[in-house]
Amino acid sequence: MTKLAEVRASANVTNGSAAASDLELSCDVCVIGSGAGGAVTAATLAAAGVDVLIVEEGGYWTNSDFTMREKDVVSKLYQEAMQRATADGAIAILQGRAVGGTTVVNYTTSFRTPEHVVDHWKKKHGVTGFTHADLGPHWDWIEKRLAIHKVSEEEMNLNNRKLFEGFKAMGWQADTLYRNVAACMQSGFCGLGCPVNAKRSMLVTLIPDAIDAGARLVYRARIDRLETSASSATRAVGTLLDAEGVGSTGKRLTIKAKRFVLSGGAINTPALLLRSGITLGGLVGERTFIHPVIGSSAVYDEIIDPWRGAPQSAASHHFADRGEKVGVFFEAVPFYPMVMASATPGFGAEHVEHLGRARHTAGHVALVIDGFHEDVVGGVVRLRPNGAPVLDYPIPASIWEALRFGQRKLAEAAFASGAKSASTLHDPILEMKSKDDISRIESMPYKPGALPVFTAHLMGGCRMGNEPRTSVVRSDDLRMHDYDNVWVIDGSVFPTSLGVNPQESIYGLARLMATRLSRSILP
Ligand SMILES: Cc1cc2nc3c(=O)[nH]c(=O)nc-3n(C[C@H](O)[C@H](O)[C@H](O)COP(=O)(O)OP(=O)(O)OC[C@H]3O[C@@H](n4cnc5c(N)ncnc54)[C@H](O)[C@@H]3O)c2cc1C
Ligand code: SF4
Repeated sequence: MTKLAEVRASANVTNGSAAASDLELSCDVCVIGSGAGGAVTAATLAAAGVDVLIVEEGGYWTNSDFTMREKDVVSKLYQEAMQRATADGAIAILQGRAVGGTTVVNYTTSFRTPEHVVDHWKKKHGVTGFTHADLGPHWDWIEKRLAIHKVSEEEMNLNNRKLFEGFKAMGWQADTLYRNVAACMQSGFCGLGCPVNAKRSMLVTLIPDAIDAGARLVYRARIDRLETSASSATRAVGTLLDAEGVGSTGKRLTIKAKRFVLSGGAINTPALLLRSGITLGGLVGERTFIHPVIGSSAVYDEIIDPWRGAPQSAASHHFADRGEKVGVFFEAVPFYPMVMASATPGFGAEHVEHLGRARHTAGHVALVIDGFHEDVVGGVVRLRPNGAPVLDYPIPASIWEALRFGQRKLAEAAFASGAKSASTLHDPILEMKSKDDISRIESMPYKPGALPVFTAHLMGGCRMGNEPRTSVVRSDDLRMHDYDNVWVIDGSVFPTSLGVNPQESIYGLARLMATRLSRSILP
């Protein structure tokens, strides 16, 4: 049995779909969600001797399930089988759903929160109670535990190298990235679960740490709502899910805990509060940010194979600060065959022609930094009649401008790195044969439905701050303003987006706040 399968088989782990009867459990701290925020919180508390129970709605998969085939794993590892989208269908939303959360499928890019972002939160959103320096030792710890290190230029695959070289050729800032991997065999399949456990996701690090330290875990169990009395939560009640993780087994889960930590991630944590009747006057679910993303493809003479090699190893933040205009940053994405086929517009001969060039095609993205300008207030999480969440994210004109700007810069960089053509993903595609064609982007429609927009970075919805009128959780400990035994520790607490990939920001903040929580429980 592999080490991961041994952990899963331990007496502390319960498969909710196999339970013969309703489950009634009790604990000191119930952590709902096992991703970046939940796993770090659970491991930190358990290591300090706190009695922790983790609840996760996704499956407990191990590397032997990660077959590197999209058709096998996408429905297992992503929320809504990768079909999650905004209310108007204009933005595809990628989020994980498994023990280990979205870290199981993420691309390993690791950034500390930029200091100017923490300063902005303090100035504009009343985020007090911790400083950038307070997070430092927690980032040091997590970087060591997850083997986070800067990749060398030699490790870049061609997809990333083209982005890097194009930006450098234009005289724009670009750098290689930090990744949380050890002995990475460069398969390229981070987005489908690492087949060799090289990715130091929560699945292979802090979840086993938490369980080794005595934490219990129930998976295939969704918490539907918290029951409350006055200013406390008394119980979490939920549904045990079938082996497919879709329907109910008809059995229920009830957890009595002294404290509840909500770590279901942006969208799902606000939804749990809303289902529990907790709205805090409409604040819950507001200011959800997503780094809206637009894609660009470019065709080269060389074989790129954009699905092979470390998916993300280069980025540029040259245009992150555009003053009055909304900023953008740039990265490469692994263009897996199914993703490429569905993202490439058209059908019949035209579609075949584009996909016929798949091996020569590079996939690059512009990510918009939302939440820092007055008119960019983010989306709002609401509930569908069946209690499932939906994000309403109308894209303001300033974000469309940034997306169009990003598209132009990607095309300029593509031609600077030797591309024969660069394309937008409009239907019909705008194919630019030389840099003289780039100006045609100005006449293309940038509006809902005109081209694919997507997100893999969900942030906000339970924003932190020191002022109950404007925030959901306190920023000194992430405890809810109106509920004395409920904490939110995940990506939903950020009052803006981050301008960098979020996982390390969540790890650092979670470890700082879980350490404070453990000290308040076991002084
Ligand atoms: C394809 C992809 C690539 C990415 N690449 C990167 C990258 O390279 N670098 C980076 O920094 N970030 C990346 N991210 C984003 C990053 O992984 C996430 O921002 C981060 O994992 C979010 O952490 P979280 O704790 O907020 O939630 P998650 O990690 O999403 O964990 C939440 C967990 O809670 C569970 N849950 C939710 N509600 C309930 C409930 N009611 N009951 C029980 N369980 C529940 C969910 O199933 C999920 O497993 C990527 C994301 C995607 C989708
Ligand atoms: S690229 Fe490396 S970390 Fe990613 S799935 Fe392949 S071996 Fe794992």
